[in-house]
Amino acid sequence: MSAAMATFDEARAYFLCGVCETAQLATFQTRVTARPAMNVLDIGMPFEVTDDPETRGYLKLREHQAGTPIRILEAWNCGACGSAQWAWLVVEDHRLSDVERRDLTRETLADTHYGTIQLYYLLPVGSGGELDELPLNDKIDRLLQAAAQEAQ
Ligand SMILES: [Zn+2]
Repeated sequence: MSAAMATFDEARAYFLCGVCETAQLATFQTRVTARPAMNVLDIGMPFEVTDDPETRGYLKLREHQAGTPIRILEAWNCGACGSAQWAWLVVEDHRLSDVERRDLTRETLADTHYGTIQLYYLLPVGSGGELDELPLNDKIDRLLQAAAQEAQ
């Protein structure tokens, strides 16, 4: 038996790239499942979110209320043009109820409960920790500013 433990699963959904509009079956890693096992997860499949996504490196953007859908922002890359893309995993009633391609906008971030560590990569090195102390609107401002600079 290998001592290595799986640290992720993969979510899978059909998307149109937001840049080149190529239709594709996108597969991307997620680290928020309670027991990562390198499973491939499609919409409708059972999905348990870990009690503490922050210990897996996720940025907490808003408080999740028990019994309501939880939205997790993940990153993927277009297989045709290679551009960085974003998607929500929506989990409700212990299932992956939707996977939705999202643009990195104020609306997306404001409705996200937990965001992938790749959001931190938008920020200047070492400044991710400061973000934890900021109110939600300031966190969102900081991430959007960083994303705008990245795009230039
Ligand atoms: Zn593309």
